[in-house]
Amino acid sequence: MKRLRRKKGRLALDREFVLLLPMDRIYFDNAATTGLDPQVLDAMMPYLTEKFGNPSSIYSYGRESRLAVENARKSVARVLNAHPAEIFFTSCGTESSNTAITAAVRDLGCTHIITSPLEHHATLHTVEHLHKRGEASLSYVHVLPNGHIDLEDLEQQLAAGAEKTLVTLMHANNEIGNMLDLHSVGELCKLHSAIFHSDTVQTVGHFPFDLRNTPVHFITGSSHKFHGPKGVGLLYINENVRIQPLIHGGSQERNMRAGTENLYGIVGFARALELATAGYEEDSAYIKGLKVYMMEQLTRQLKGISFNGDPLGRSLYAVLSVSFPKTEKSEMLLFNLDIHHICASGGSACTSGAEQGSHVIRAINNNPNQVTVRFSFSKHNTREQVDVVVARLKELI
Ligand code: PLP
Repeated sequence: MKRLRRKKGRLALDREFVLLLPMDRIYFDNAATTGLDPQVLDAMMPYLTEKFGNPSSIYSYGRESRLAVENARKSVARVLNAHPAEIFFTSCGTESSNTAITAAVRDLGCTHIITSPLEHHATLHTVEHLHKRGEASLSYVHVLPNGHIDLEDLEQQLAAGAEKTLVTLMHANNEIGNMLDLHSVGELCKLHSAIFHSDTVQTVGHFPFDLRNTPVHFITGSSHKFHGPKGVGLLYINENVRIQPLIHGGSQERNMRAGTENLYGIVGFARALELATAGYEEDSAYIKGLKVYMMEQLTRQLKGISFNGDPLGRSLYAVLSVSFPKTEKSEMLLFNLDIHHICASGGSACTSGAEQGSHVIRAINNNPNQVTVRFSFSKHNTREQVDVVVARLKELI
């Protein structure tokens, strides 16, 4: 019955998207972005039309908008078990990480940064920039062959350093899905008085959070990863931390981030997070089922493949990174999948135009004779789609 309802829901949703997507297109790139949930659009619509007031205006239109922003903040805080004053809306996950990392160095006295070679470029390019400008020294934590962070190395680096340190490590890797133990890293940071920032862009909206009981100073989020709108991000700043704004101007976001608020985006962020949280148990089990099914089918039907990271261990249920043997045919794999209306990626969408391939895959599996593809799923995907993709892969390898 449940399955039937889900199927009906999916068909209803497909009808919503029918103008945008040919029916035969298979979208397996949900770690890059997700489609907007029609219920989220419904919540946003009034703020795209009649409720257009500037939240800073003092008359009724403005007050209505201000209320929407503050209600969204309260809702996000409730879901993440944080205080509303700890929740800041930004333009994207990238802006949130830039703000947190830069503030840790410029305002919180961190003169050393520990990160990993597997981080998203929103983190890597920010720490490299600060390092190049001489604002902080930089070291990379050792990564184990299964793609997990070597916590012993992290502890040794923290213990050996006399400087105030920022540790910036992502919660779930967007390319291979590996998940960090936020609590263990947070406790290590506490022990060594380090500041801890985690890029949680792949997990906010995908996992329950309990920030009051998580030892972290900054986390980030981005609503387009969980069926919310693009162009709206989250920065959580623990209430014990005081930083300076990265964007100067008006007094929006309690003087922390100037600029007229992305009103409908913020409303959409909160609604998408509420829906994701309400559906978490059922959706995460369903999506994990798709991932495991695809692993089984690939293993059964294709030779010489391997899975990157720790896909059946501490791993994001939505991400599956597969390496295929490199042949003349498979070198063109992503291109050929696209020709057959299958959307997947070689790594992060932000670097898909780059020639060098994925820095994450290079760091854990530098085998030049393999071609790696990331498949990432959402609740709108089906086993039938997995069957179609696996059958196509058999032809294209
Ligand atoms: N961090 C991770 C792990 C991501 O997957 C992404 C998404 O591309 C980002 C940061 C950047 O988020 P945004 O697209 O909101 O800037």
